[in-house]
Amino acid sequence: MAILIQGGKLVDPVLNRVEEQDLLIEKERIVKILPPGVFSEEGPRLRKIDARNRMVVPGLVDMHVHLREPGYEHKETIATGSLSGIAGGFTALACMPNTRPVNDRGTITTFILDRAREADLCRVYPIAAITLGQQGETLTDFHGLRKAGAVGVSDDGQPVEKRELMRQAMELGRSLGLAVISHCEDLSLSSGGVMHEGSVCSRLGLKGIPAASEEGMVRREISLARETGCPVHIAHVSTAGSVELIRRAKEEGVPVTAETAPHYFSLDHRAVEEYNTHAKMNPPLREPGDVEAIKKGLAEGVIDAIATDHAPHSHAEKNVPFEKAPFGIVGLETAVPLTLRLIREGILTWPEAVRKLSYLPATLLGVAGGVLREGAVADLAMLDPEHSYVLKAEDMRSKSKNSPFIGRSMKGINVMTMIGGRIVWERNL
Ligand SMILES: [Zn+2]
Repeated sequence: MAILIQGGKLVDPVLNRVEEQDLLIEKERIVKILPPGVFSEEGPRLRKIDARNRMVVPGLVDMHVHLREPGYEHKETIATGSLSGIAGGFTALACMPNTRPVNDRGTITTFILDRAREADLCRVYPIAAITLGQQGETLTDFHGLRKAGAVGVSDDGQPVEKRELMRQAMELGRSLGLAVISHCEDLSLSSGGVMHEGSVCSRLGLKGIPAASEEGMVRREISLARETGCPVHIAHVSTAGSVELIRRAKEEGVPVTAETAPHYFSLDHRAVEEYNTHAKMNPPLREPGDVEAIKKGLAEGVIDAIATDHAPHSHAEKNVPFEKAPFGIVGLETAVPLTLRLIREGILTWPEAVRKLSYLPATLLGVAGGVLREGAVADLAMLDPEHSYVLKAEDMRSKSKNSPFIGRSMKGINVMTMIGGRIVWERNL
């Protein structure tokens, strides 16, 4: 059975264009991309999908997700996280290693891949730990993890405090083709902090996490990349200072790349007023000036990728006093509407936005995806950019509903996700 997607606007993040074109998909591949209406063959073996008023984009690739399995299945499982991903337009998710046990050995990586295969919903790429147990003391077996299927390494949730250890990780990572992803935080500055150190924090009487905690570590990673020539990727950039450091490093030719998450360009620390635990994440929501700098960094290409840092927590865990709540929010099902705001604001073009949500993360991880061309595997999403709605918890597929955007007006939604030529998600509006 072949599938013809007709009348949609195709967004090509590589050729940097938006064009009305039809796509013919057979088995797992895109076999033809044609001007609209050229393909007219009828037949029972051809399913036609009406894509008028829709944007057809390469399947989104999220390079920073917490799927929580093994160990925290009450928050999310690989199956529920995959479902949340395909509902949001993602065809591939890279999952961070801070599970229980930590993904610091090949058997855990294999377990994750097996569970993803059983769920059979979304492509899943494990990111393994840099250090055993994410304890920051001993490097994991990068070679064995690579062989088991890890595509990158990170101690996300924790910084690698020892400089020498991070240097070794970057050198080994490069030699094995593993992306090295740094969670930048100086614990000597951030420890005990629960939100951004600033005016809201003082008013609420909470302990702050200063911007310098992130920036100090970004500076160290850049200096390591400069010294060694080895690439490093900075996770969840949240401050104006980090954007500036990365900008200068890139101008100098240092092999540093960066991602931010939709909440850092959509909200600032005022969202924490009234001690809203759904606005508690690490790094924390910063100041309006930081939000502007993140947007500028995205527009100018200083920030390469948009990743959600999808971090599910149960209602019981978040429904506690602010200081006690865990860090993190879910993000897979709000990435599209939040990123589309940047398009409407004129900060990103369609191809640029899709590039940051698919092509660049795929490239940074060295995995397939992010392109729509004849012969490519048919991983794609179909978006309705005009659909307006209020985000409701019961409409979200993630097992956890910890989102500060619940109850807010959204515009734009994913309506169909295809992976390897198979429709895995459809939404009737
Ligand atoms: Zn992190």
